Amino acid sequence: MTNNNSYEKKNFRTLIESDGIGRVEDRLNIIDAFLDTEDHVTLEEFISLLRDRGFEYDSDFVKMCLNRWVNQGFAQKKTFEGQPPRYEHRHLGKHHDHMICTKCGKIIEFSDNDLEIMQERIAAENGFHMLQHKMEIYGLCDQCLEERDVLTPLSRAKGGEEVIIREMIGEKQDKARLISMGFRSGDHIEVINNNGEGRIIVGHGLIRLAIDRDSAEKILVDLAPRRRARYFYPGRRKFRNRKRWPFRRFR
Ligand SMILES: [Zn+2]
Ligand SMILES: [Zn+2]
Ligand SMILES: [Zn+2]
Repeated sequence: MTNNNSYEKKNFRTLIESDGIGRVEDRLNIIDAFLDTEDHVTLEEFISLLRDRGFEYDSDFVKMCLNRWVNQGFAQKKTFEGQPPRYEHRHLGKHHDHMICTKCGKIIEFSDNDLEIMQERIAAENGFHMLQHKMEIYGLCDQCLEERDVLTPLSRAKGGEEVIIREMIGEKQDKARLISMGFRSGDHIEVINNNGEGRIIVGHGLIRLAIDRDSAEKILVDLAPRRRARYFYPGRRKFRNRKRWPFRRFR
């Protein structure tokens, strides 16, 4: 998140000079690069940012610097599902949450005061005193959503998605087999797990089923019908205009 970086830089110099572990100039170069990026960077991405600036540092040293700053409260380390750890700035007194696209890895920051208050209220109603929280929303960014065909084989649906069966393709016996498994056009199914290989676990009514990939290729589903119904038709523009926060995109 953008902030008063020149103030932070001064703050850093004092800290780095006073902790007596040496390589002050190298560490200042690294912190400069870190403060200049507004991204959520992995260690590898950050090392290549440093390389772009003409600095070649070994990854253990850079990692040590980053982790030290995490401890000192200048940086935070975030591990989003399915991604290597990422580092971002930490600005005192400012908080934000994240949406993570499970397809392209894009990270969108957001902040919503109503949501923050709601979380505290829910905690309090449970007699719980909230100290901190992590709010991460996983899904598909608008670009990835747009790039997808409306009808897609079930084999390409993501874990956590609710889809509607629209068509069963393939030979007669394939269709008969799917029907014997209980699938009908128009059925809603929940994709419980699809890790890209092996069988796909779905929830169908009250039962869980494991579908082999071959069969899953033959079931064409309508993806994200729920999302579309709520936000995209016709309220998509409305949804976009609802931003209370400068939605900034990373990566
Ligand atoms: Zn939050
Ligand atoms: Zn995406
Ligand atoms: Zn962030």
